[in-house]
Amino acid sequence: CYNNTGDYMRLRKNKNALKILNDSNKVIHNFFDYKNKFNELFENKNPIHLEIGIGKGDFIINMALKNPNINFVGMEKFDSVLFKAVLKAEDKIDNLRFIHGDAIDIDKIFGKEISVLYLNFSDPWPKTRHAIRRLTSSIFLEKYEKIFVETKKIEMKTDNRNLFEYSLIKFNEHNYKINEISLDLHNSDMINNVVTEYEEKFSKKGFPIYRVVVDKK
Ligand code: SAM
Repeated sequence: CYNNTGDYMRLRKNKNALKILNDSNKVIHNFFDYKNKFNELFENKNPIHLEIGIGKGDFIINMALKNPNINFVGMEKFDSVLFKAVLKAEDKIDNLRFIHGDAIDIDKIFGKEISVLYLNFSDPWPKTRHAIRRLTSSIFLEKYEKIFVETKKIEMKTDNRNLFEYSLIKFNEHNYKINEISLDLHNSDMINNVVTEYEEKFSKKGFPIYRVVVDKK
């Protein structure tokens, strides 16, 4: 969670949030037990797409509604926003589940079972000494390497030019190829863009939205 200058803002604890998460059947409670078995959870062999840092969940909920033949897992470390996503996701969205966890554990949670990874408006961590916390730092890219099926594909959107440029360099260092790129998504010819909460907020303020899709075999 960050403000206009990219500074990190601590989210307040919400007492009811944990209870809502605990009571929800959309939340995968024992997620470490499903490594290499997430298909069993969805009871089909459809591809699984993962979003890390879903916030209040608008993107992943709408993606799941639009793409019933894809399974979606949304991961978020803060209960204070995740519970809102859980409340919004109606019980009938069978192809969507949530994990209350930290991306640092991602390679302990998934085997080679993710087809696409979405990183939307990830915290920019502007200070150089915090760069390793960025979700596109080498630490994370090396972990993602272990969770992809054969083709590795990452779709990223951000309003933060510095994070965007840093990420392009990191993707390149890790041998990803750029498939699609936009420096002003909302004035581009992309159709079917599913908007996130941060995207809505920043694009309304007139900030350009950056998007890149990278992949490698
Ligand atoms: N994706 C949403 C959007 O575009 O509106 C939320 C963006 S918000 C700036 C970034 C979110 O990523 C926050 O909710 C934060 O808690 C979550 N996050 C950051 N680091 C994370 C990590 N290591 N594991 C899981 N979630 C993380």
